[in-house]
Amino acid sequence: MLLEECSFPEVEAYLQKNDTLLIPIGAVEQHSPYGLIGTDFIAAEAVARSAGEKLGIMVAPTVNYGISPHHMQFAGSATFSPKTMIAVCCDLIRSFAGHGFRRIFFINGHGGNRHALRTAFQQSKMENIPGILEIFSWYECTGVKRFNSKCFDHKEGRHATPSEISLTMHMRPEAFTHKETSPGKVDVQDTYWPMTAAEMKTTYPDGRMDSAPWLADRETGAAILNAAVDDLCKKLSHYMEMGLVEQR
Ligand SMILES: [Zn+2]
Repeated sequence: MLLEECSFPEVEAYLQKNDTLLIPIGAVEQHSPYGLIGTDFIAAEAVARSAGEKLGIMVAPTVNYGISPHHMQFAGSATFSPKTMIAVCCDLIRSFAGHGFRRIFFINGHGGNRHALRTAFQQSKMENIPGILEIFSWYECTGVKRFNSKCFDHKEGRHATPSEISLTMHMRPEAFTHKETSPGKVDVQDTYWPMTAAEMKTTYPDGRMDSAPWLADRETGAAILNAAVDDLCKKLSHYMEMGLVEQR
């Protein structure tokens, strides 16, 4: 059930029986010559929509942009500042909680968003927003990790990973027609984090971080999506049964 395709009476009817909302959130950042700039939001949206369909949960429009300042020396990347991201998430939580949503889950596709989301949750609680606020980062779930160690071993890496490239290949196969596919080298860097855009470009000149995106393939992407959706559905089912604390 997509919020963007509902009328307001349909949202009201949904809220009579369900107070859960999924908000996919990603990033607009380079994913090496092998992957799509939209990788993080395409993957998050796919996981959220598929889980939403399985469990009959409403899915809000995707927050496409995220916190990606370290990618800004690569053409096409765009970033929110952490401050903007926290404000955007607080505004969305306030909006949807105002209508009666009490279980709001951000389905996240980008590691750089996590701290801002947590801060937005703390800010929202300070404003007495009731109910459950949670993040689910699809790439961290056990099913996906099991898949990664079996298929990609230590070559999964940390950015432009074969698992996220596989998932987006499954979702947008036509976008990969002219992408790089030839095998490269994986040089694992012993370095610090976070980095400036210049430090990032010098350390990881082709935009990969310890990963082998040439190992990606479409069929694996379909299996990874299923694994992530299964894990998410389990977690959501648990939270949907959880009693909410009454505020006095
Ligand atoms: Zn990514």
